Amino acid sequence: MGSSVSRFKLKDRVGIAWINSACGKCSFCRKGNENLCPEFQGTGCDVNGGYAQYTVVGEDFAYPIPERFSDCQAAPLLCAGAIGYRALRLTNLEDGQILGLFGFGASAHIVIQIAKHKYRSSPVFVFTGAGQKDHQDLAGKLGADWVGVTGDTPPTKLNCAIDFTPAWKPVIEALRVLEKGGRVVINAIRKEEKDKDSLLESSYQNHLWLEKELKTAANITSRDAREFLPLAGEIPIMPQVQEFDLEQANEALLLLKQGKIQGAGVLKIT
Ligand SMILES: [Zn+2]
Repeated sequence: MGSSVSRFKLKDRVGIAWINSACGKCSFCRKGNENLCPEFQGTGCDVNGGYAQYTVVGEDFAYPIPERFSDCQAAPLLCAGAIGYRALRLTNLEDGQILGLFGFGASAHIVIQIAKHKYRSSPVFVFTGAGQKDHQDLAGKLGADWVGVTGDTPPTKLNCAIDFTPAWKPVIEALRVLEKGGRVVINAIRKEEKDKDSLLESSYQNHLWLEKELKTAANITSRDAREFLPLAGEIPIMPQVQEFDLEQANEALLLLKQGKIQGAGVLKIT
């Protein structure tokens, strides 16, 4: 621990999220949008760490881990959980309104638990890919009020939706079944560029007219992680974790691509 650290004491258990640092001075940082800072640094991408035993981080970007979570349970909270928390925050959902989740993997299975805790009267509708029976079962177990396949028309229109997929079709479908004045938040770093269902296939009249909004969630801020972790402990969120040794990293990534990981995959480095 560095000599000028004041947030922590030696031997505290802390976690690091995707945001490793931001400048703290630019117009984005000053408004709390560190995620949009031109000097944003990502863990394991711009700065060493992530797939490593040791790493260094500034105290503003380290977060205490609630005791009830094991190290492996905490890992997806710091990544998929914190970004999911941000995406849910960006929907502006109000209690009682209907939330739709498109794609049900690492992030969505945590978001549904936050939504059920914070917005107790809000029905949650989950849309998965065709044939993703395991994901549908998990959604049901975690309290989804309706579960269907992307392309289905739900019993009621959605006030807000979050898309967690790398494809375009769920975005267009979310806009189609969105209530007037509703908002769709895309929680994905990349979209398939050559997807035949690209956004260009949408129609202004059916998908955007009547004040429907489309927004993306990019990265996270330290505020997201700092608010989310204690909340996760209080709910408590129970992340479904499938553990892999570092040597099995390629296998884990393949299973992820094939949609065969239940909840979140975690690499263990000993
Ligand atoms: Zn900045």
